[in-house]
Amino acid sequence: MDVSVVPCSAYDLSQCRQALEQLLFPLGGLDWVRPGMRVGLKANLITFLKPDAAGTTHPVVLSALSDLLTERGAEVIIGDSPGGLYTAAFVGRVYSAAGLHETEQHGAKLNQDFSQRDVEYPEGRICRRFPYTAWLDSVDAVINVCKLKTHGMMAMSCGAKNLFGVIPGTRKPEFHFQFSNPADFARMIIDLDEYVKPVLHICDAIVGMEGNGPTAGTPRPVGCLVASASPHQLDLVCAALVGLGRSDVPTLEAAYERQMIPATVDELTVSDGWRDFIVPDYQRIQGQSSLLFRGRGGLLGRVGGAVIQAAVCPRPTVKPSVCVGCGECSHVCPAKAITMKNKLPVIDRRACIRCFCCQEFCPKGAMVQHRPLAARILNP
Ligand code: SF4
Ligand code: SF4
Repeated sequence: MDVSVVPCSAYDLSQCRQALEQLLFPLGGLDWVRPGMRVGLKANLITFLKPDAAGTTHPVVLSALSDLLTERGAEVIIGDSPGGLYTAAFVGRVYSAAGLHETEQHGAKLNQDFSQRDVEYPEGRICRRFPYTAWLDSVDAVINVCKLKTHGMMAMSCGAKNLFGVIPGTRKPEFHFQFSNPADFARMIIDLDEYVKPVLHICDAIVGMEGNGPTAGTPRPVGCLVASASPHQLDLVCAALVGLGRSDVPTLEAAYERQMIPATVDELTVSDGWRDFIVPDYQRIQGQSSLLFRGRGGLLGRVGGAVIQAAVCPRPTVKPSVCVGCGECSHVCPAKAITMKNKLPVIDRRACIRCFCCQEFCPKGAMVQHRPLAARILNP
């Protein structure tokens, strides 16, 4: 089986444990785990969000998985590099907000190694050198435990995108700047996925995030767990659950380019009944990806041109009534395109590279994606 999908309706420890066992069975279970093995759980800990916000991997899923692994004699370490400082103090606050201390009662340790190293990766197609969160070197196997969310730049954050968390937080903006085109950003992500090569990818889709994701969206029950040995096959199924296709999601297009996934989800072997979990009215976010990544055959692919892109590509826009003038958006902007005036962010449209970091890290959800009229006509 390529992708396993099982029902799980609540963050209840025994239900999650049972669902995980059922989920992993068709993929060979956890028989590869040996006593004494160190297993790293690469969670999604994007920022200071409580579990109920549906922006981070839920601690109950991580706790249930930790139970299954420690019972086999594994040592479990949970970690990630959120946006921001990659230090014990900063990430420790994210651990607390995300409720991760609960996992310690299930034998897991929260990563405390915040060292970095530079990776040389000549096999990378587009990204051959990058800084890396070194804690992942200390484990024998990595399990990617991601969250199903909308994403301003990539349309969806799930299995593949979660591996961007191996770049230390303060170094992420330079990657947004270096790979400012969504196609190249996605190709860079695929290189990171290939370098880390987790043995397993599990998606917490019990409650996903819809709308203004990946941090300020709305929790939306999807009611299942999804797993695969491939992040891209997992993402192809998860995209279908929320009404997206391959051409909507740049990381899926990039994986298709490399023949890592088939053209459509119909060509995968997936658990019976998985389509029962499709949420037809899931509030998607139509990033520039959905237009630019119509690929070579798409409208922009054929017509191209910066002027047309500017006319149709979504852009960040502030909601003055929600903004509290904290300035966080101007701090995270890799292009230095935001200045604060009269406690409101002002965006230099010519400098903006449309990475949506400002939208992603606005603590109030005041920065939103605006789709120009032309985009709405072309791609309703
Ligand atoms: S981060 Fe959000 S709330 Fe803070 S200044 Fe920017 S738009 Fe306003
Ligand atoms: S204004 Fe926002 S979208 Fe534009 S470059 Fe800055 S962070 Fe990225």
